[in-house]
Amino acid sequence: MTAMVTVDDALTRYEPVIGLEVHVELGTVSKMFCGCPTTFGGEPNTQVCPVCLGLPGSLPVVNRAAIESTIRMGLALNCDIAEWCRFARKNYFYPDMPKDYQISQYDEPLCTDGYLDVTVPLADGGSEVVRVGIERVHMEEDTGKLTHTGGATGRIHGADYSLVDYNRAGIPLVEIVTKPVTGTGGLAPAVARAYVAALRDIMRSLGVSDVRMEEGSLRCDANVSLAPPGQPWGTRTETKNVNSLRSVERAVTFEIRRQAGVLDAGGHIVQETRHFHEDDGTTTPGRSKEEAEDYRYFPEPDLLPVAPDPAWVDELRTTLPELPAARRARLQEQWGISDFDMDSLINAGAVELVEATVAAGADQGAARKWWMGELSRAAKDRGVELAELGVTPADVARIADLVGQGTLNDKLARLVFEGVAAGEGSPDEVVAARGLELVSDDTALLAALDDAIAANEDAVAKIRDGKVQAAGAIIGAVMKATRGQADAARVRELLLERLGE
Ligand code: ADP
Ligand code: MG
Ligand code: ZN
Repeated sequence: MTAMVTVDDALTRYEPVIGLEVHVELGTVSKMFCGCPTTFGGEPNTQVCPVCLGLPGSLPVVNRAAIESTIRMGLALNCDIAEWCRFARKNYFYPDMPKDYQISQYDEPLCTDGYLDVTVPLADGGSEVVRVGIERVHMEEDTGKLTHTGGATGRIHGADYSLVDYNRAGIPLVEIVTKPVTGTGGLAPAVARAYVAALRDIMRSLGVSDVRMEEGSLRCDANVSLAPPGQPWGTRTETKNVNSLRSVERAVTFEIRRQAGVLDAGGHIVQETRHFHEDDGTTTPGRSKEEAEDYRYFPEPDLLPVAPDPAWVDELRTTLPELPAARRARLQEQWGISDFDMDSLINAGAVELVEATVAAGADQGAARKWWMGELSRAAKDRGVELAELGVTPADVARIADLVGQGTLNDKLARLVFEGVAAGEGSPDEVVAARGLELVSDDTALLAALDDAIAANEDAVAKIRDGKVQAAGAIIGAVMKATRGQADAARVRELLLERLGE
């Protein structure tokens, strides 16, 4: 094996070109060519029929809702929508494909030639917008799922037997293929990640897919090549089925480092598919181009061409929802915050959460402060996403409100967040159960204050001398005596009143 090269080093000699193929399962109620349900997690082989099992004599019928979703995606990605196109038969023999061919689209995709502007976070906290060209958006059907049992790795090699579940066979899939993305240099891995994230957000806002990467409803193949600056593009590898945002970034990074090592040693890159390994972030070879199957594509004879009425396409265009980029620009303006602050929110994945917190009644400043401060820290500590912390926007709005009313200070609020995240109940329940309310009852405060005055003669003398900063020591003592639950501002007032007497 050749030596790996660091990314920075690789970039001094080579320019990366990337291309991404993203498969998304559409969230239609029924499958692409039959009426079977698409719900996830059913008992194996309970959501099947003669069509998706490929039984002789059965005939497919195109799902109109899937066509509509694909056209809406194409429009959101600034594509041209074909006025006439056909499905193609992609022939291959594999046990997860009961018909022994997959109905797909080949040289006549439904949507072509679009783009997506992607905001890529930079290391210094800023961001850069990169336009990613979209080659095509086409439709196909998903395959079944194989489970290999008995081998050490869950792979087919060494397995005792394999199980097949056809529930997924025939679920509508959309494949979105980018044009080669050039000129991004060291940003290439971040561009790949940001592109997949942006695509996911668009799909969510269109409501065409729930895009849960962990359930495999969005999968990405990452193509990478390297060439010296000014030279024609190099040979690409295609790392298959990368299924998290982080993995997309790591897979591209690994391929840049590996390919640079091969080229440095005078080797050449083999055009092949590769597998990504989550555990160590490496890729290993799969099929090479020489072994690649010839799919013998031909127009699918069992289906009519798809010819969406231009008037319908126009109607779909006018009913597209506000897309994530436009929404973010609007929110930034509404909240009156800087590019830098907006970028930080985007990078932290907090835009939607802050928006929902504001909708629940909080001030934008308070909402941003909690999500970007305390809650981001807690999410990082626990290695989870902000949205998975167990604290809802409504909880944050309520806690911000309690701070605003003077029932909590920031320190107590942190304990309330901790309690809510730990599943102890709503903010009010946590405040009540943990007894976290600020003590603003003067009698209780005065008792603690008098003790503190008696114990801190030096500080008292200084305050009387006009050195008001010395009040900190006494306020601190009162806070300690009340376990942090005194209202510091009120203690200060009482102290100055007391000494003024
Ligand atoms: P395949 O069927 O081999 O996967 P596709 O056309 O579906 O081919 O996808 C190829 C992907 O690779 C596209 O995203 C394309 O932009 C990208 N690509 C093409 N040439 C290169 C290259 N030299 N380096 C990196 N990516 C490339
Ligand atoms: Mg491909
Ligand atoms: Zn079916």
